[in-house]
Amino acid sequence: NENLSATPLEDEALVEKSLRPQYFNQYIGQDKVKEQLEIFIKAAKLREEVLDHVLLFGPPGLGKTTMAFVISNELGVNIKQTSGPAIEKPGDLVAILNELEPGDVLFIDEIHRMPMQVEEILYSAMEDFYIDIMLGSGDGSRSVHLDLPPFTLVGATTRAGMLSNPLRARFGISAHMEYYTESDLEEIVKRTADIFEVEVAEEGALEIALRSRGTPRIANRLLKRVRDFAQIMGDGRVDKEITDKALQILDVDNAGLDYVDQKILRTMIEMYGGGPVGLGTLAVNIAEDQETVEDMYEPYLIQKGFIVRTKQGRKATAKAYEHLGYSYQEN
Ligand code: ADP
Repeated sequence: NENLSATPLEDEALVEKSLRPQYFNQYIGQDKVKEQLEIFIKAAKLREEVLDHVLLFGPPGLGKTTMAFVISNELGVNIKQTSGPAIEKPGDLVAILNELEPGDVLFIDEIHRMPMQVEEILYSAMEDFYIDIMLGSGDGSRSVHLDLPPFTLVGATTRAGMLSNPLRARFGISAHMEYYTESDLEEIVKRTADIFEVEVAEEGALEIALRSRGTPRIANRLLKRVRDFAQIMGDGRVDKEITDKALQILDVDNAGLDYVDQKILRTMIEMYGGGPVGLGTLAVNIAEDQETVEDMYEPYLIQKGFIVRTKQGRKATAKAYEHLGYSYQEN
């Protein structure tokens, strides 16, 4: 179900850009992360130093990119944006670093997917603001030293565990982004509705919030879809009735679970008596790769209490049985 995918759909980039909060006071939720960053940013400005490098980790769609832009706005500096997979060769990174102005923020999304050769160049760049690059090859090769202006690297990753130790150690600040509470998501839906100029009823916003997997990207997308239904089938107002109807047609269940989530739980229950079952086995059974299950599906299922992790593997909880209409027996 693409409506519940936490990664952006093809045509979403522009809309998302227009929805991005610019400053902390517009950024809803993630209070712990905001609080610590606000202090570090104030302190850095007071000392007229660059902000320490920041690592943001958490599942897709929770606002990591948005936060990187907020950081640069709050610092009053420019931001350059790239991603791990886009930096293929050391030369690509050197070109990016070479363009930085003093104090700039360099945002690298999916930083765990950078090739090792590239990553190694980042070490001295992050630690002491210089790089040594090899020019030429064989006998004629020589090393060139390049000083860089002080800058702040903001790295985003879906999994802290995927980062190498030397890279992780070079981030002075690391922040774990959490799934959003229902009331935060409700507020996000209302804010987006304002920007879209759609009228949304309290219960409509809450219903969308409940089914958005704790993820702003999904909340905004569902609002957009429901808005279409409201325009065609109703009077344009996003109320509870039209929201329920639309989400039912869109196949989003009342816990925000989509087809794959349900399949994961059904497989555990029907084929493995509720578990414990290893993640690899589970992934094979639902024809997804293990990383996808671990990054995209499992965290939400765990957070919602449908799955627990045990030493022996994953287990479906009584709540999962109940949600899908199976009868649950202890042991
Ligand atoms: P990530 O980089 O973690 O995948 P993004 O920063 O691209 O997520 O956010 C996805 C969408 O959700 C963006 O359109 C953004 O405007 C919206 N969004 C994310 N976090 C918030 C928030 N705290 N308040 C309001 N909107 C948000």
